[in-house]
Amino acid sequence: TQALLQRVQALSHLNAFVAVDAELSLQQARAADARLARGEVAPLLGVPIAHKDVLVTRGWPTTAGSRMLAGYRSPFDATVVARLGQGDDVHPGAGAVTLGKLNCDEFAMGSGNEHSAWGPARNPWDPARVPGGSSGGSAAAVAAGLVPAATGTDTGGSIRQPAAFCGITGIKPTYGRCSRYGLIAYASSLDQAGPMARSARDCALLLSVMAGPDPWRDATCLDLPPQDYTQGLDEPWPGADAQRPLQGLRIGLPHEFWHTQGCAADVQAALRAALEVLEQLGARLVEVCLPHSELAIPAYYVLAPAEASSNLSRFDGVRYGHRAASCDDLADLYGRSRSEGFGPEVQRRILVGTYVLSHGYYDAYYLQAQKIRRLIAQDFAAAFAHCDLIAGPVAPSVAWPIGAKSDDPVAEYLADIYTLPASLAGLPALSMPAGVGEGGLPVGLQLIGPYLTEARLLRVAHQFQ
Ligand code: GLN
Repeated sequence: TQALLQRVQALSHLNAFVAVDAELSLQQARAADARLARGEVAPLLGVPIAHKDVLVTRGWPTTAGSRMLAGYRSPFDATVVARLGQGDDVHPGAGAVTLGKLNCDEFAMGSGNEHSAWGPARNPWDPARVPGGSSGGSAAAVAAGLVPAATGTDTGGSIRQPAAFCGITGIKPTYGRCSRYGLIAYASSLDQAGPMARSARDCALLLSVMAGPDPWRDATCLDLPPQDYTQGLDEPWPGADAQRPLQGLRIGLPHEFWHTQGCAADVQAALRAALEVLEQLGARLVEVCLPHSELAIPAYYVLAPAEASSNLSRFDGVRYGHRAASCDDLADLYGRSRSEGFGPEVQRRILVGTYVLSHGYYDAYYLQAQKIRRLIAQDFAAAFAHCDLIAGPVAPSVAWPIGAKSDDPVAEYLADIYTLPASLAGLPALSMPAGVGEGGLPVGLQLIGPYLTEARLLRVAHQFQ
């Protein structure tokens, strides 16, 4: 813990951390030492990790990257935070030490960590570039060796895309696998927490602790027994041998992901080389189609802002966070507090969300988008009749220079093309380092599985690694 605190300091130009509290971390580390000395066993006892700043953390500030929550301290831990760390009255803790809170886009809205009220996080491979977003601080911290693992959250790609941009592994579990209790809501029907780490094995270790039912606290959390995702990582695919451990595994390549324009040549080349490795391991590549995938961007950018406009209505200057100084009346207090507290991207999304939900437009936008969401889920179901998992790019390019998309929100939305379909369908999806593209920058390969196949995704990634 001490060594990593020093490293966080030394690499502070990455702006990966938005809160550190050495005393608090060392106190937790000493408590872990005492437990170890007593011979206690817990999966992460004494391991320093850090949390994305949208997960509430007792004793630490939690701001969700927003001025709106400057100075806010939650009286309780998010369920995934409690499970990884000190535990709570319901869940035993795995004993990890919290090293701090990690930078992210404001309320997790963004793909480059450029919409943080605390300034952009930087990509350790090239600090002039974005680390990806919205879990940019998490990816940068892991890639720079500031922590061995971190939490992230993924609504439309926010674990997978920064993992790809920073050359690490991250998994967005099946919707409902991890409790959303204490995850500051962006779009509740899409939000999922997940681990980000250097390897699939480390992700498996964290996910085993994070996942599991959370009765009374998150009604959408699945009632499935906890599972040890590190078990079976080295086992070959059923019927295969150690020489070709993926023999018999069918990897679907969606036509829409591989044969349409938009994915940069350097990314394509790196991914093709990765596919060859998977083939050498015995996997068979099959063509599949996801015909509605190009509708994922318009559908997502209606649904996510719609939910966000509702979720963010709680930030009214009365109950939480920022309150404007002098106001004429209640409406003025709401208006000023929200104008001052929310950044431009968040305000844009609240406006879009309110518009698509308003009387007379609801049917044309929100309802249409819900129908597209269903079609996308059906596309995946049909594709999985022909393959065991799907592989594709995570993002159409390597990490872009900070500022390159600042004037053009839509350009940033378009970069989410490959991550949104699995989000809308609620499927588990993983990003793993696959090679390098332009400028030696990392390229990630995305693996998407049927519902509840996290173990399969982690196993294939582990065998590739
Ligand atoms: N880039 C997407 C957005 O801005 C996804 C963000 C996320 O997954 N939190 O909404």
